[in-house]
Amino acid sequence: MTAQLLAKNQEHTVEIIDLNHEGSGVAKIEGYSVFIPGVLQGEIARIKLIKVGKKFGFGRLIYLEKTSNHRTEPPCVVYDKCGGCQLQHLAYDAQLVYKQNQVAQVMKRIAKLDVPVLQTVGMEEPFRYRNKAQVPVGYVHHKLVAGFYQKRSHQIIDMDTCLIQSKANDDGVQIARSIFEKYGVVPYDEEQHQGDLRHIMTRVSFATGELMLVIITRKASFPFKEQIIKELEQTIPNLVSIVQNVNPHKTNVIFGEKTQVLAGDEYLVDTIHGIRFVISARSFYQVNPVQTEKLYQLVLDKAELTGEEIVFDAYCGIGSISLCLAKQAKHVYGVEVISEAIADALLNAHENHFTNVTFETGKAENVIPNWYKKRIKADVLVVDPPRKGCDEKLLETILTMKPKRVVYVSCDPATLARDMRILVNGGYQAGEVQPVDMFPMTTHVECVTVLEINNEN
Ligand code: SAH
Repeated sequence: MTAQLLAKNQEHTVEIIDLNHEGSGVAKIEGYSVFIPGVLQGEIARIKLIKVGKKFGFGRLIYLEKTSNHRTEPPCVVYDKCGGCQLQHLAYDAQLVYKQNQVAQVMKRIAKLDVPVLQTVGMEEPFRYRNKAQVPVGYVHHKLVAGFYQKRSHQIIDMDTCLIQSKANDDGVQIARSIFEKYGVVPYDEEQHQGDLRHIMTRVSFATGELMLVIITRKASFPFKEQIIKELEQTIPNLVSIVQNVNPHKTNVIFGEKTQVLAGDEYLVDTIHGIRFVISARSFYQVNPVQTEKLYQLVLDKAELTGEEIVFDAYCGIGSISLCLAKQAKHVYGVEVISEAIADALLNAHENHFTNVTFETGKAENVIPNWYKKRIKADVLVVDPPRKGCDEKLLETILTMKPKRVVYVSCDPATLARDMRILVNGGYQAGEVQPVDMFPMTTHVECVTVLEINNEN
């Protein structure tokens, strides 16, 4: 059969030859690629074609004729419906190999680099690892629910328990949900742009067990506000902070501009590498604290500091990498675009008695060229950008400033590969890439690598 004869609703028996970056199985029918969620490499599957596009199609598993040795029973009861995890049916060791292979493929395909990609650094306990939950609220059958969007939809599934979430977040979200329900608070309706409560976020400190609750509402006021705050404080035992963020806009962006503390502390406190960090509601903070310790250790190892270096930490958040580096550097300059995070970073430096750090709010691609113009030059530069990678202007500045080492921490191998290629073209030599599993059960993969300047250039 040729690809032209393929049509929706046809059934086929296929062999799964690979898993793609979304965790879906890849099969070929006469050279035509079909992606099928829930199947694994090496399996033979009876599938139904549900979408036939020009270049590729999508299939749904009907039954397996041959199963993989790596298949395991997903422990979560809503795994099939929820969009949060993609790899629960794959044994954890095999997830680590999958991630290593994904990175290796991208290095070849996008970076055109033949660099070693090491074994993924995994977790001993790959469940209940998240310190932050951020869930939408809505009505399902007139009941207030808080949880996840169902796969490819805006229907919410109630988060009774999420197995990658810390128990404290599970409990915090559910208790808050029931209190809001008791007082008849109306969830936000995206289409009508009405209702009060948009999202609930909780963040727990693994060091102290303390919890911060952030409620994102459409307006500053909502019914029974005082009573609700009081009841939240009385009912959630480890709660140390209640924060409100107001987002009045018709948008699917979660946070609005205004944030205020409703009760308790402005910050949550956590510890990494023995340094105490305050984290305010709007600041970025790594979601997997156990793996963060390992990730930061890799950054330190790769930075190879002697105490004499000027180090830049671009995309520094609350200064967590910056302060770990500052123990071993002459001076660290951190830059970050969210001003609340820089306020946290300054407080963190002060409270931990660091005098060799400077932080500035702004975009890395603007602030770093300015530092360089002022003749502040990095010997070692650390970047930890969001998924879109480094801005071109920042990469250009790196190539002119020529720090001897660039340590790159990345949450998206594709943009990491793109940026590595640019740095290699500009005279850097790429080192081995170390994947770190910050997000078990999902397809996300974090990487650390170091690029060194070629002295012959
Ligand atoms: N290194 C930190 C934060 C990494 S996440 C840590 O390990 O915790 C990436 C950070 O980059 C976020 O805090 C985000 O707010 C910030 N950011 C995004 N775009 C930026 C830009 N153009 N310039 C500077 N910071 C930016």
